[in-house]
Amino acid sequence: MSKRCKCGISKSVFCSTCSRFKMVMNLKNGYDHLKFVNPNTGQFCNPVWFSILTKDHHSVKSIETAMLRRFSKSQYIGATRNVQFYDNQNKTLINEYPI
Ligand SMILES: [Zn+2]
Repeated sequence: MSKRCKCGISKSVFCSTCSRFKMVMNLKNGYDHLKFVNPNTGQFCNPVWFSILTKDHHSVKSIETAMLRRFSKSQYIGATRNVQFYDNQNKTLINEYPI
C-alpha cells in the first residue's frame, strides 16, 4: 500500500497539503539568511519540513525521531530555538522541543 500525494500538487515524497505532519524550525534572532521569503508577502518565514507520505502509517514518535535526526544533520541545528510538530491535517500543535 503506497501512499502518494492525493491533491496532485506535489511530485515529491512529501506534500504541503497531504503530508500528515509539519515540522517548524523556529530560528533564533540573527538567522534571517536561513529563512525563506514568502513570495506573496515578502516576509521571512521559518523553515518548514513535511513528513514523508509513505511513512504516514508510522507512529508519531517514530516520525518525529526520524525528522529530528535529519534536523540534527542540517544547517539549521545551531540556529534553531525550538522545533514544533503540527498535525498538518487539522493544524494543531502536537509537540514542541527546545533545542
Ligand atoms: Zn498533495
